[in-house]
Amino acid sequence: MRKSRVRGIPESELSRWFERQKRVLPWRDSPTLYRVWVSEIMLQQTQVVTVVPYFERFLKAFPDVESLARAPEEEVLRLWAGLGYYSRARNLRSGARKIVAEGWPKDRAGWLEIPGVGEYTAGAVLSIALDKPEAILDGNVERVLSRLHRVDREKGDAAYKARLWELAREAVSRAQAAGVRPSVLNQALMELGATVCSPKAPRCEDCPVTDACAARLANRATEYPPRRKPKEWIAVEEELHCVLDGKGRVLVRLRESGEWRAGLWDLVERKPARARRLGSVESRHIVTRHKIVRTTQVWRLDARDSAGASAAKCGGRLRWISIADPEVAVGSALRKTLEQVRETFPGA
Ligand code: SF4
Repeated sequence: MRKSRVRGIPESELSRWFERQKRVLPWRDSPTLYRVWVSEIMLQQTQVVTVVPYFERFLKAFPDVESLARAPEEEVLRLWAGLGYYSRARNLRSGARKIVAEGWPKDRAGWLEIPGVGEYTAGAVLSIALDKPEAILDGNVERVLSRLHRVDREKGDAAYKARLWELAREAVSRAQAAGVRPSVLNQALMELGATVCSPKAPRCEDCPVTDACAARLANRATEYPPRRKPKEWIAVEEELHCVLDGKGRVLVRLRESGEWRAGLWDLVERKPARARRLGSVESRHIVTRHKIVRTTQVWRLDARDSAGASAAKCGGRLRWISIADPEVAVGSALRKTLEQVRETFPGA
């Protein structure tokens, strides 16, 4: 591993820059444990601009941990619908129930026992909400620190991550010694990565720590973070049936636990007994390492069967929903399919 030529980052410069430049974000108003925790879970794998309206709606429906703990899972998933990675919503609800029963966790070890909370989220909640001197390391912070110190992967992924955590902890300690609060330092690192130190085109000329950045000084900023081995994709083919009743409704089935998209409503997997085939639509999705091709056969129920007797044989917990305005928890895959069906078979 290359030895860093930069001894430290100018934390005071960085924090002053943050106080001047920080974006106005709803979770930054009154950063309580609950608000910071919800926002950090929503921000996992998801961009800020996407999260903002979801966060506001979620907090309106569940303003505190008690209301979230009391909420039925389906209601939580309904408010999450479209944000993806639905285990996050289930974990938030389970975490809320645990917190209501046992009280708020006091430290990093306690937070790591909350479902869905890893090292990054534990550090973020403790430092941002309580100003505890805890380090954080997400994709943005990794990029900033790996560039500032030119950290490479020569000794493997584990050594690379360990070095970054060490640098993140050192930054918090030095900041505290310089009178910079952990909440400010950590948010400043994240903000710098999100708004200035971007993956492909870092704006080094606008960066408050440009003179301390080893990668910039070597003119090699975009070579960091060092690349990982490319992902190995798993191809998945899914065939589903979109059963329409001719009155603007579509038949959906509640996915059970153990299935993908558990707790969400999706199309049925068996075709109806008495229906006319209108055609098919196809869409592509990526879920973690899976590349999914989703083929949907589109059916219109036989007019004599409008009560849906044959559709009832499609199996599982079923219900009819409006194709134009599904009011139940449906994922982004089904929303996309329904849009395609509306466009391809208007008036069906
Ligand atoms: Fe990132 Fe450039 Fe700032 Fe270095 S100088 S931290 S590469 S924006």
